[in-house]
Amino acid sequence: MAKCVGPVQEDACPQGSIVLCETLLVQNILKWAEIPVAGVICTQGSPLMHAALIAQNLGIPVVVMDKAAVRDMHEGQVVSIDGANGMVDTEAQAPASSPTEQRLLGHTNPITLPSGRTVEVRANIASLVEAERTRAVGADGVGLFRTEMLLEQAGRLLSIAEQEEIYRDVLRKSSGPVIFRTFDIGADKPLAFLDMPSEPNPALGTRGMRLYRTHPTLFQDQLTALYRASEVAPMSIMFPMVTTTEDWDFCRDQAKRVASTVSSSPANDVSLGVMIEVPSLGFLVPELALHGAHFASLGTNDLSQYFFATDRESDASFHSGLALLRFIHAIAASARDVQLPLGVCGGLAADVPWAILFAAMGIYSLSVPLPSVQPIKAALSRHQEYEKLVAQAIQGAHDYARIMDLLKQEGP
Ligand code: PEP
Ligand code: MG
Repeated sequence: MAKCVGPVQEDACPQGSIVLCETLLVQNILKWAEIPVAGVICTQGSPLMHAALIAQNLGIPVVVMDKAAVRDMHEGQVVSIDGANGMVDTEAQAPASSPTEQRLLGHTNPITLPSGRTVEVRANIASLVEAERTRAVGADGVGLFRTEMLLEQAGRLLSIAEQEEIYRDVLRKSSGPVIFRTFDIGADKPLAFLDMPSEPNPALGTRGMRLYRTHPTLFQDQLTALYRASEVAPMSIMFPMVTTTEDWDFCRDQAKRVASTVSSSPANDVSLGVMIEVPSLGFLVPELALHGAHFASLGTNDLSQYFFATDRESDASFHSGLALLRFIHAIAASARDVQLPLGVCGGLAADVPWAILFAAMGIYSLSVPLPSVQPIKAALSRHQEYEKLVAQAIQGAHDYARIMDLLKQEGP
């Protein structure tokens, strides 16, 4: 919980203030993080919006409140905000200055389970500032770099050279291998400056890799920049919103074609992978492996949205559940059968009971917001009973609830 004295306005924000704004933009939060401000209250948006994800990574609490509820707040007022629970206390007292905290890192390597298998805990990031923090939190690399946020931040498309420079820097600064997710534009991630079709249901329309067919240069330029940057370190490229084997083949072929034209001194290995975030792809794991995918990562934010037919931004109660567990269990089993490494980079990877269940299912890598890296590593290393855990939880509603309750006690 952060306590501080206002001002509650958008333009002037001294260190330690809480900023009040309508919509939180990526470029705002990166600027305010440098000051740094103590928190943000906004009147539009959701906890899953891009800028809020970055804020969470940089340790800045964000709370979304009704316009009516903030009407009476005024500059200089002392407010206390609790980002984890979405609470604002307007009766707060001014804080006493707190001593500087020095925290020791507990786990700086992947976690070894009692079976001897290891599970990496990587970070989800979207900017160079966050890449620079991956070492400090002991992340085993970056499991998801949301590259479209670079465009959101710039407010325009970036040239190949501009992208290449950023990707090189990210590879240099990160604590381990990086998975770059190619641009996932559309639906909850619109870009105001990009010419996009107007559709009645954008979440079901042209988004993610579907846009690459209508905007081929956008995709090819990004691939060129990524392959050029791969000179710095081994890295992975992963494609969003793949729905069919044909979608995967299209992305893979484009990547291979670009790779063959980038003739820099033999680049490091570039692995190609895919996000499983459209339910249909969960039934095509053997085909993905057969068609040359090196890895897959479950994007549980979108996977649950499409699985439960419920907007990811509106109803958090539909982000998990027995049905989803059974589905993911089946996906993990088919990935094991064909030896396709399967990770998780959606929000459920940072949920302690789910993280333990993922580890029990043979998931090799979890990718979570920066502040969750150590809590998830600690929970994985504390837990000892991985065997039969999932087999029990998928039996029925009662067993699922019982196991989830049990695992909730694992903290953090
Ligand atoms: C997801 O869908 O789970 C995911 C990790 O990607 P994003 O939240 O950026 O859509
Ligand atoms: Mg997604």
